Amino acid sequence: MPSKSLHPESLLAHAGGGFDKTTGAVVPPIQPSTTFVRDESYELVSSGHLYSRDDNDLFRKTEALIARLEEAKDSRLFASGMAAIAAILRTVKPGGTILLQSGIYWGTTIFFRRNCERTGVKLMELDATDKDALAAAIADTKPDLVFLEVPSNPFLRVADIAAISAQTRAIGATLCVDATAATPLILKPLTLGADLVVHSATKALNGHSDVLGGVVSTADAASEAWGFITQERHDAGAVMGSFEAWLLLRGMRTLSLRVERMNANALAFAKHFDGHAKVKTVLYPGLTGHPEHALAARQMHGGFGSLMSLLIKGTKADALTATGSLDLFQRATSLGGVESLVEHRETIEGPQSGIPDTLLRLSIGIEHIDDLIADMEQALAAI
Ligand code: PLP
Repeated sequence: MPSKSLHPESLLAHAGGGFDKTTGAVVPPIQPSTTFVRDESYELVSSGHLYSRDDNDLFRKTEALIARLEEAKDSRLFASGMAAIAAILRTVKPGGTILLQSGIYWGTTIFFRRNCERTGVKLMELDATDKDALAAAIADTKPDLVFLEVPSNPFLRVADIAAISAQTRAIGATLCVDATAATPLILKPLTLGADLVVHSATKALNGHSDVLGGVVSTADAASEAWGFITQERHDAGAVMGSFEAWLLLRGMRTLSLRVERMNANALAFAKHFDGHAKVKTVLYPGLTGHPEHALAARQMHGGFGSLMSLLIKGTKADALTATGSLDLFQRATSLGGVESLVEHRETIEGPQSGIPDTLLRLSIGIEHIDDLIADMEQALAAI
């Protein structure tokens, strides 16, 4: 790893570089071997190379880079964002309590609900932006784990990580933040007092919609939770493949440029459609009318992310007509890729998710902003 003083942009541009001492290649090789030999006296030929479920050079390289970005003590890659979240959830023993932010990624919510029901962990779901209710719940129920998503998907609510971390610290609870929609370039929850930060690396970290991955980072590598998570990755085996780790590291080389463009596009797009005749509300923390704009501006640096939602004026049919009329935005789930995506979330997650049927979730990519605005204008004109 290069010198500590380098900016994230420089670290990222050289991600994994200077790796191959034999050839001088500026990008690391992919090591497909799952197993590694021992010599005649049964010592490993190369220490640290035993079996690819234990570890792998590309994991270490990528984890070290992400730990630098997060200002973390350590990081671990997982096979997907959900695999990473599962390892965090399982830090809570049967009989324990989890406080989960409500109105977050439905896949996380439903996973916590199903898992807690089976394992005898008490689950409470609360609006994490309701400061007083949250503080009272933390003090009264003393959860083992508080799990936030900042900004939340698809409602873009912004919880106050520093304030909540003071409360979790007072009772010895673990505070974990899913900061997927922000990226570590604009939000570093560990510097605000969180104990763990998790990302679906499938999204902007990789950024090209061609890798499934997850990553957890810790503020304290000696904590019980971190010991469990690292052991769990090894034992439960939810590891990333070598090829995926290589693609992720390659994708991250351009992370700073992509995030810069996506942030700028998203803010311009949100401002353009804020107050539009066919749009009831634009949910985006970069807008001054957003309920947590001031907090978001304090917590985030360099932008507000590429995720936003539009609540369309009219009916579900109108929202689906607009979605169906888009040309440049691809109608697909996921977020954080270079291509802009639109999703009618209620169709995907079902009415039980509580997502309004007029909500369009948008992931803003790196296209020219005028083309994105023109595409949404013509789609809204079709309603
Ligand atoms: N966290 C957030 C905020 C997400 O949006 C998603 C997926 O959409 C996940 C976690 C799950 O990540 P993965 O699909 O990589 O398992």
